[in-house]
Amino acid sequence: MVLRLLRVVNRAYAFVAFGLYMLAFGVAFLCVFTFPLGALALVILGVLSLAFVALGRDALQAIERWLSRRSMQQGRCPACRMGPMISDVMHGAWRCGGCLVCFESDGSELRPPDTDAIEMTAV
Ligand SMILES: [Zn+2]
Repeated sequence: MVLRLLRVVNRAYAFVAFGLYMLAFGVAFLCVFTFPLGALALVILGVLSLAFVALGRDALQAIERWLSRRSMQQGRCPACRMGPMISDVMHGAWRCGGCLVCFESDGSELRPPDTDAIEMTAV
């Protein structure tokens, strides 16, 4: 349950952070005409908070990888909670026999190659 929630949060984290920065930009733009000190404060706050946003992302991804490793050690897929997990010793990766999602041995999910990009380069 925690892992599934964490996977959703990590997938949406960048979009939410971007949305919050866009919202802050909109408020700062309005503050330029009404309360210029507020706009300056929002710019400084935005720049200073960027490090914490990045640290938060790294921390959440590290927790997800740790929980994924634990789930794979128990033979369950972190994505679908089923299995079986098949180890690919040659590449050091794990693949779910049910949903075919691949994971590295550190718990991070491997993205499948973009088939559209491959087709475009082949033409
Ligand atoms: Zn799976």
